Amino acid sequence: MKYLLVLAVLWIAIWLWRKNRREEMRDAQRERMAKAQQQRPAAPTAVGAPQAMVRCAHCGLHLPASDAIAGPDDAVYCSTAHRQAAVAARG
Ligand SMILES: [Zn+2]
Repeated sequence: MKYLLVLAVLWIAIWLWRKNRREEMRDAQRERMAKAQQQRPAAPTAVGAPQAMVRCAHCGLHLPASDAIAGPDDAVYCSTAHRQAAVAARG
């Protein structure tokens, strides 16, 4: 009967320890996931979304396609001045 009591106490102790450990692991995992979710949206805004780059047909400058100025025959330019210069040079 004495051994049964010791066994019961030991079993309860192990059960409590394991339960505690499981909760700690769950908390750590939740913390890790929260940290990952906080970092994920911050990264793209800090770096910026990738943009297509084009080359100015007049001076060769590389610039984002959204900033480029379209010229005749599918050529793109970095500025209106270079577009006009290229058109004037062509004739
Ligand atoms: Zn240019």
